[in-house]
This record gives sequence, C-alpha cells and structure tokens, in this order.
Amino acid sequence: MNLVPDEGQRAALEAAREAAHTLLMPNAAELDAGAGFPTETLKALGRAGLMGVNVDPAWGGRGAGAVAYALAVRELAAACAGTTVGMMVTNMVAEAIEAYGDDAQKQRHLPRITGGAYAAAAFSLSEPGSGSDAASLRTVAVRDGDDYVLDGTKAWVTSGGHAGVYLVMAATDPAARARGISAFLIEPGTPGFEAAKPEHKMGQHASATTQLIFDQCRVPASARLGPEGIGFKIAMRALDGGRVGVSAQACGVATGALATATAHLASLDAEAQGPDHAAHLAALADAATALDAAWLMCLRAAWLKDERRPFTREAAMSKLFCTETASRVCEAALRILGPDAYGANAVSQALRDVRVTRIYEGTSEVQRIVIAREVLRAASAAA
Ligand SMILES: Cc1cc2nc3c(=O)[nH]c(=O)nc-3n(C[C@H](O)[C@H](O)[C@H](O)COP(=O)(O)OP(=O)(O)OC[C@H]3O[C@@H](n4cnc5c(N)ncnc54)[C@H](O)[C@@H]3O)c2cc1C
Repeated sequence: MNLVPDEGQRAALEAAREAAHTLLMPNAAELDAGAGFPTETLKALGRAGLMGVNVDPAWGGRGAGAVAYALAVRELAAACAGTTVGMMVTNMVAEAIEAYGDDAQKQRHLPRITGGAYAAAAFSLSEPGSGSDAASLRTVAVRDGDDYVLDGTKAWVTSGGHAGVYLVMAATDPAARARGISAFLIEPGTPGFEAAKPEHKMGQHASATTQLIFDQCRVPASARLGPEGIGFKIAMRALDGGRVGVSAQACGVATGALATATAHLASLDAEAQGPDHAAHLAALADAATALDAAWLMCLRAAWLKDERRPFTREAAMSKLFCTETASRVCEAALRILGPDAYGANAVSQALRDVRVTRIYEGTSEVQRIVIAREVLRAASAAA
C-alpha cells in the first residue's frame, strides 16, 4: 500500500480541496442554520468531477479509485459534512448503477450523475420498522405484466426530495427475506411516489433526510437494477464501499475541528495558561494520534477495494474506529477551546455533525456484528 497519492488521487484531492474552499466552506454556517438544500453546490461538485470519483471515465467519472474517493471525501467533510453526505451517497449509487445496470440504465443515469445534471442520487434501504435488520423491510414490489407496483414507506433517505434518481430496495418475494429483495431505479415525478417533509435533525442540516412514500407506484420492469432477488446483495456491496466513505467523512469532520483547536492552542501564551496548557497539549497529542490511526484504517479499506480484494471486515473496522474516534476528537477539540466553544461555531457544529456517522450505513453495534462474523469465518476457514 503506497501512502503517496498517485496522479489521479492527487487530482481528485485537489479538486475536492478547491471545492471545499470555494463552495462548501463559505456556506457551511448558513446551511447549518437552516438555509436549505445546497442544490447548486452539489451540481458544481458533479462538474468538478466529484460525483463519480470511482466511476469509469466512459460514463463521465474520474476512474480514480476508492483511495482517491476517500481523500476527496475527507477534504470536503472538513468544510461541510452535510453537503458531503449528499456527494457520498451519489457516488455510492453511481457505482451500483455502473456495477449492476444495463446499458440503457447506465446511459440514462450515469452521465446525469457524474456531470451534475442531477443534484444528487439517493439510496433507500431503511424503513420506519427496519434499519439494522434491513432484510425485514416491508415495502413490496408486485409484478404486474411488464410492470412492478410498489407500496410502502422508506425512511431516512439522504437527499430525499432533491435526487434525480432513487435506488430503492423492495421485496419482490417477501417470504424469501434477504433473497427476495430487488433493487429499483425510480425517478421523481413517477405517479404514486413522493418524498415527505425533511426530518428535523441534530446535525448535518445541509442534507435533507426524508421518508419516501410509495402508493400503487407503477414502474416498468426495466426500472429493476439487476436480476430479481439480488437487491440485498446490491445494497450490502454498496454499503461496504459506503463505509469507507463514512470513515473518511468522520475523519474529515474531526480534522476540521482539531485544526481549529490547534490554532487556538498555538495562539495562547503557554506560561500564562499554567498547568491547563500541558493538559491541553496532551489532549491534542492523543487526539492527533488517534485520528492518524483512524485515517490509516480508512486508507487500508479503500486500498483493498481498489485492489479488488475482500474488504468487508476492514471497511466495518474502519467505520467503527473512525467514527468513534472522530466523535472523541471533536469532544477533545471542544474541551481545548474552552467555554466559548459551546456557542454556535464550527467546532460545536462538528460535534453535532459527527454523531450520525456512528449511525448511518450501519450503527457501531452493527459494525461489531459484521467484524465478529468475519473474524469467526476467517478462524474457521483457517482451522
Ligand atoms: C441522518 C441520517 C441519514 C440516513 N440516510 C440513509 C439513507 O440515505 N438511506 C438509507 O437507507 N438509510 C439511511 N439512514 C438510516 C440508517 O442507516 C439507520 O438509521 C441505521 O441503519 C439504524 O437503523 P434504525 O434507525 O432503524 O435503528 P435500529 O436498527 O432500530 O437500532 C436501534 C439501536 O439498536 C441497536 N441495535 C440494533 N440491532 C442490534 C443488534 N442486533 N445488536 C446490538 N445492537 C443492535 C442499534 O445499534 C441502535 O443503537 C439514515 C439515518 C440518519 C439518521
């Protein structure tokens, strides 16, 4: 594993750095205060080549790989985590369409995603009654001649109401549970399909998160992504890659918060601070060390993905460690800044924004289940 970025990785990093400074940072505080959805910023990220970082250039992507994607996400998330999650889910859906779509689906959606014609693409697995146990979803897609008819309610959909395409998991054979789930590409404006009002959230206010309601929503069979019954596999594969993204996002948020705390410490008169200063330096050292370890885990998972080696275990380990560490680092940054940090500022925002990284794309508890399963599997294979 080479820790020096290659040309494609550096180009993605530089595009993200430029976008972070010119597009995300200037609007982050306003968006946190409720200014709405960053449609134009997300479209501009597409034009900057950041909506298909790991998608083939034939479809308008960069083809730069998962390490490049992690580098880009970390940079963007340090500026605005809420805008970045829209970018992350869009990249995740683009990769799923590239992997499982037929030519017509790729031609219809990929150039619109990678070029920024769509502000975002959305991924819809969770439901009001099924999050961690995703295979127990209740939304159904019933075959009717050349169509499917969808009924049900999906929950917590990132970019709900703003996406150009929704990747929706629904049961085509409910009795078969995970093996009876299929994936569909659904476009806004389809009769019987609507996004509900955005949820009120503690953080990541730049991201709209909504329910999706399907009421006798009829779509042609050509809207199905891949064969019937592989929707759960498509979702799990997407989430493996998505967890690399959430790891990088968490590292980015914590990097931003720690940079603010570091600048604050550097500006103080050490002697006047007395013993507090030494305690804050020790906290800074622990936070910086833990964050480096987290980032290395993220890079390892991304590198394995680029090498086309199994990375389920490493992606889950990375997500668990990066998100838990990032939360502690944001706490430490707040402590170092002192009481003033409790006001409305970038560090208190980081603390609110980082919390959900321990929830979406599988909670920390779910990552532990995945890791334990993979460790046991490896042990029994070696026995
Ligand atoms: C802001 C936000 C954005 C999101 N975006 C999306 C999106 O774009 N698309 C999408 O499909 N979903 C999305 N989600 C949903 C997210 O993936 C789920 O919230 C998450 O998977 C947890 O599911 P749940 O909320 O139903 O919690 P539950 O599954 O009900 O879990 C509740 C608690 O129980 C714990 N728990 C559950 N099962 C076990 C177990 N077996 N052992 C130990 N502990 C357990 C969990 O860790 C959690 O702490 C989003 C969520 C949020 C908050």
